[in-house]
Amino acid sequence: MNRRFLRQTAIAVGVVAVALGCWLAAGLLADRIVRRELDTAMHVQRQMTRSVVDNMAEVIASDLAMLRAIPATMAETGIAQRALSDAEKYAVTPQLTQPERRNELLRTPALLTADRFLHDAQGFSGLDAIWLVNDNGVCVASSNASDKATYVGTNMRGRTYLNNTLLGAFSETYGEDVPGGEPGIVVAAPAYNDGLLVGAVVAKVGIARLRHWVTHPGTFVTDGNGVIIMAHDSALEGHAMPGSPGSPVAHANASTGIGTAVNKRRSEIGLRSAAQRALASAPWMPPKDAAQMIELPGLHVPALYETRGGLNSGLSAHLVDPLQAWPELLANQRRDRLLIFLMLAGSAALAAVISVSWVRERRLHRASRDLAEQLQSANAQLAAEARHDALTGALSRRYFLDLLRREIDRAYASGTTLCMAIADLDYFKQINDRFGHAAGDHALRHFVETCRSGLRAEDEVGRLGGEEFGILLPATSLSTGREVVERLRQKVKSGARGELPPDANLSVSIGITELAASQDLPERLLSRADLALYVAKAAGRDRCEVMPADGALPPRTETEAL
Ligand code: GH3
Ligand code: MG
Ligand code: MG
Repeated sequence: MNRRFLRQTAIAVGVVAVALGCWLAAGLLADRIVRRELDTAMHVQRQMTRSVVDNMAEVIASDLAMLRAIPATMAETGIAQRALSDAEKYAVTPQLTQPERRNELLRTPALLTADRFLHDAQGFSGLDAIWLVNDNGVCVASSNASDKATYVGTNMRGRTYLNNTLLGAFSETYGEDVPGGEPGIVVAAPAYNDGLLVGAVVAKVGIARLRHWVTHPGTFVTDGNGVIIMAHDSALEGHAMPGSPGSPVAHANASTGIGTAVNKRRSEIGLRSAAQRALASAPWMPPKDAAQMIELPGLHVPALYETRGGLNSGLSAHLVDPLQAWPELLANQRRDRLLIFLMLAGSAALAAVISVSWVRERRLHRASRDLAEQLQSANAQLAAEARHDALTGALSRRYFLDLLRREIDRAYASGTTLCMAIADLDYFKQINDRFGHAAGDHALRHFVETCRSGLRAEDEVGRLGGEEFGILLPATSLSTGREVVERLRQKVKSGARGELPPDANLSVSIGITELAASQDLPERLLSRADLALYVAKAAGRDRCEVMPADGALPPRTETEAL
């Protein structure tokens, strides 16, 4: 019971250990497979994000190149140059408000021509506004001269881009040109007349006209301060990139110097590494891949991040591209692991079944072999027992007669002689009667032992029945045979008595014969020996009688006749 319990426990522990091993191996294999899938997915998506951001940067660059060309070209025109020359000295006076200055400027004919020209140019260029700023930083003509919120008459001195342009430098920046106005890109080109700097031509395109920069999901554009100025997801707009000067935006005004809107304190967008989170849900992921993962609030999967900085106007293009394959990869890893586990466990179970049946088959084979061996040895024992008489150890009657037959053949084949004798214990019945059956048995054993010790190794003794024994003496002549059995008779009569009762008389009568020169038979030999024995018994027992092969009894001596 206890052993059975131990065996069952060992099997259960083994099964659990194998299952655990299969599960771990399945994990390793599934990890390898899914890692390769992730590698491919990331490689393909990285190429796509690069191409999207490169394309975005190209569009921004070409749009800005076009934008730059417009004020630069207009600064070359006579209308702009003349208008700026005419209004070169117009300066802001404390007495006049901006609307008053506008009205004053609108009365100047050269400026009115310029206003119309600028208005037309704005119309076909697709810009928001184009205006002229004189040497004193006052807007003297503008495409929106007729609008209520015209720039004409506005003192623009102090704006960074103008400061540089009025010193002769081309300038381009992102920002707001008036407080609360729509942000956009402002480009300013210096204008010369007869080699003298007379002012600047300024053009602005509002951010709304540039929204095609962020048509691809996940894209956004930042300004030089790291503030998101436009984004596909408009919720991101106005936030600052992590760690950028735009956050906090104390620096923003110093750089743009345009308006106040950019001077608001910006909160950073939550763009940060998703490595830890990605590794937590996918421990199989190589750390180098995890390091590329970015997370953004609202995104449910890690994303790849790509950026191109250093574009004109201090702009940068960005793309946060969610890893589309992520949920599938996680599911694949789980599914692959389960499938591989089932496959391994199935193979292990099959191997176990094969091993168990092999062991059983071996055991069965061994058992049947043992059984066959037992059977063989039992047969051998039976054969041995059949060969010998159980009580005395002498040869059995049947075996003795077989042996007699073989010895006759051998004697004829080798041309040797052969003697055969029959010995019968005298008055044996009396021993039984007087001393008991056990004493009789002992006398029988004693007789066989006496024969064995008195005969050669090649001589044989067999029990023919009761207290009658056959003695076979190969290669022995009748006269020698007679001497041998005579010696035996004497030894039985007066030799060591063994465990026989001291007053038990043990003697033996023996009849002996020889093999005829030719064509003799075992039955004849037996019958001659029997006849000789009969003669010995009849003559008074305790004697040996000879019966030659020709059946003629030798003459008796006088003593024998008595
Ligand atoms: P005889 O001199 O004429 O041969 O007389 P006998 O008594 O020896 O011969 P008989 O044939 O009258 O008796 C043989 C006895 O041998 C009878 C039988 O009980 C006994 N005997 C036969 N086989 C065995 C045996 O295996 N053990 C014992 N103890 N006695 C046996
Ligand atoms: Mg007898
Ligand atoms: Mg007898």
